Amino acid sequence: MTERLYSTDQYARSVDATVVDHDVDDGRVLLDRTVFYPGGGGQPPDTGEVTIGDDRLAVVRVAEDARGVWHWLEGGVPPTGTAVRGEVDWERRYRLMRTHTAMHALCGVVWERYASPVTGGNMEPGVGRLDFELPDWDPEDKVSLEEELNRQLDAARRVEIAFLPREEADQDPSLIRTKVSLLPSSLTRVRVVDIVGLDRQADGGTHVADTTEVGRVRIAKVESKGRGFRRIRLALVDQ
Ligand SMILES: [Zn+2]
Repeated sequence: MTERLYSTDQYARSVDATVVDHDVDDGRVLLDRTVFYPGGGGQPPDTGEVTIGDDRLAVVRVAEDARGVWHWLEGGVPPTGTAVRGEVDWERRYRLMRTHTAMHALCGVVWERYASPVTGGNMEPGVGRLDFELPDWDPEDKVSLEEELNRQLDAARRVEIAFLPREEADQDPSLIRTKVSLLPSSLTRVRVVDIVGLDRQADGGTHVADTTEVGRVRIAKVESKGRGFRRIRLALVDQ
C-alpha cells in the first residue's frame, strides 16, 4: 500500500519515492509513498510532475485502487525500482484546499441555521457546489448566509485532522449527520476533519489549517433541486 502523506501532512508538496509497480500500456506507476491526492469526497485528484534525474514527466491523472495510489505520466513510464521525486501543482492544490475548507464551513453554517444535512457536493479549484436538504429556504437568506460564512472564516478557527476507530465514529452525533454510516463497513479507522467549533465530518480530502487561509467567499447562486432540496454554489473571491 502507498503511504499517503497528504492524509497527515496536507502541506507536503513533494516527496522522494520509489516506483513499486508500473504499467507501460496504461502509462502509470504505483509509488511507495505520495503527496498526490487521488480524488474523492468531491475533491478532484492532484496534478503535478515526477522527476527522475533531469527528466520531468507530467502527472496528468491520479487514482487509487486496493494496492495504492497510481500516477499516470506523460512522456514515459519508469520501471519498477526507479527512484523518483514527485511534486504536486501546489497553486492548484492549495486553491482546492481553500475551496474544500470553505465548503465544510458552509456545511457548518447551514447546519447551525437550518439543521439541514448535506447530501452531496463537488468542487474545482476556487469554486464548489453543495446540495442540502433545505426546505425552509428564503431567497432573502442568501446575503446573510454569505455574511455569516465569512464571519466564521474570519474567526481563525483551527482545522484539525483526527483518526477515530470506526465504532467511535459510528456513535458520534456530529458525524452521523454527515452520514458516516455510508462509509464502507471494511473501514476500521475514520479520518475526521474538524473545523473546531463549527463543523466536523468524516473526510479524506485536503484542507487548510486555519479558516483565515480560505479568504473571502461569495455565495454565487442558490438553486432549487426539487422539492425541499437546494444546491448552493460558492466561489473564492480571489479565485
Ligand atoms: Zn469534504
